[in-house]
Amino acid sequence: MAQARQSQYQKAEDGKPSRVTSFVCRNCGKKVPIDAPGTQNRNHCPFCLYSRHVDIGIGDRKSNCRGMMKPVGVYRKKDGELMIVHQCQSCGYVSKNRVAGDDNDELLKELEKKGVGDLLF
Ligand SMILES: [Zn+2]
Ligand SMILES: [Zn+2]
Repeated sequence: MAQARQSQYQKAEDGKPSRVTSFVCRNCGKKVPIDAPGTQNRNHCPFCLYSRHVDIGIGDRKSNCRGMMKPVGVYRKKDGELMIVHQCQSCGYVSKNRVAGDDNDELLKELEKKGVGDLLF
């Protein structure tokens, strides 16, 4: 039956009404719209930049950890795109995420000052 479930899931991904449109940030408590400028799939809070550990691969929601992912720094890719580096406060998992157009600039600048290149790469 796993197969049938899979195809249902893919139908729901086509932007039909079952889709959630916002979430409440577990760190700062603000309501966050899912749709974000410059990214398909918002995975962190634009106010405090915290995320949650729900993915194993990008956007797959397959992790059972659900720990808070703290923004520990930013990383600039070779093409100039800025990525936020998150570290899970429960299991230590580290991931990189695209910055959304409405992310908190002040926080991003602070993180860029810290630099995480040595720490992670
Ligand atoms: Zn937040
Ligand atoms: Zn985790």
